[in-house]
Amino acid sequence: MNNMLVVGSLAFDSIKTPAGFKKKCLGGSANYFSLVASRYASVKTIGVVGSDYEDAHIEILATRGVDVSGIERQDGLTFHWEGRYKEDLNEAQTLATHLNVFEKFNPQLSAAHKSCDVLFLANIDPKLQLSVLEQANNPKVVAVDTMNFWIETKYDDLKKVLKKANILFVNQTEALMITRESNAVGAASVLSQFGPQVVVIKRGEYGALLYSKGEYFALPAFPVKNIVDPTGAGDSFAAGFMGHIIKRGLDLNPQDLRRACLEGAMIASFTVEDFGLNRLINLTEGEVSVRFEQYMNTIRIE
Ligand code: AMP
Repeated sequence: MNNMLVVGSLAFDSIKTPAGFKKKCLGGSANYFSLVASRYASVKTIGVVGSDYEDAHIEILATRGVDVSGIERQDGLTFHWEGRYKEDLNEAQTLATHLNVFEKFNPQLSAAHKSCDVLFLANIDPKLQLSVLEQANNPKVVAVDTMNFWIETKYDDLKKVLKKANILFVNQTEALMITRESNAVGAASVLSQFGPQVVVIKRGEYGALLYSKGEYFALPAFPVKNIVDPTGAGDSFAAGFMGHIIKRGLDLNPQDLRRACLEGAMIASFTVEDFGLNRLINLTEGEVSVRFEQYMNTIRIE
């Protein structure tokens, strides 16, 4: 079975949404991604945490079989993101980004980490994404996620990462920001020219747009009525997508890519039902099967 290496943020998030405020709840792109991806494949996580990050927080991944030996602990504070969502839950507003221990993080991959089949470069400094990418031994598939913070501050490094990526996940706003296009359809094909042959544009409650080799596929999101906190939906989507691709043997054919979108959107629909990682931590296989059927019903045309 192909295995997956992920590098990204392990974080405390302070989040304000119309449903409430949570101070310093557990989050970070690598946490969301690893937690979801562990349902599908063998996962190794690379990242850094501070002395305020408890062993119990790392155990959440470890008890699900994630290899956490690549999570370093350093003196200082864990990465802390402060964000809020107003009426439009599709758009996160960053209030503050405290890089803390990520500022001096210099990941050194072990031999086991280097030999990954799939490398997922979750949302983190493109310099760190590049460093991990350069150390990995020819992964079969490289997938990347990013956000406006890095597009604004590290665009040249990000472009180098995109050149070597097979799959890109990006929000609609960020896709338009990078390409200066005025809609997702135009942005997807331009982004593909930067390197990745597969581009997935995430559009919150409106679903996702997939582009690969000149062809488009659009999928609506699963309709969730009470969205509590959209944070992590993008990372969860990517993990479900990559999980499906891995299960299908990493053949990026059009049918598997479409079905991967479905898997990503289905699993992300749980993430938004509670703050932070809470909903994912308690999620059962039974709930996933029921939702899959419900989702199929919402998109089926007789
Ligand atoms: P998303 O799936 O896009 O909602 O990602 C949410 C996660 O991204 C949060 O848990 C944050 O901790 C993390 N995050 C926010 N800003 C950054 C950043 N600049 N670099 C890395 N991770 C971030």
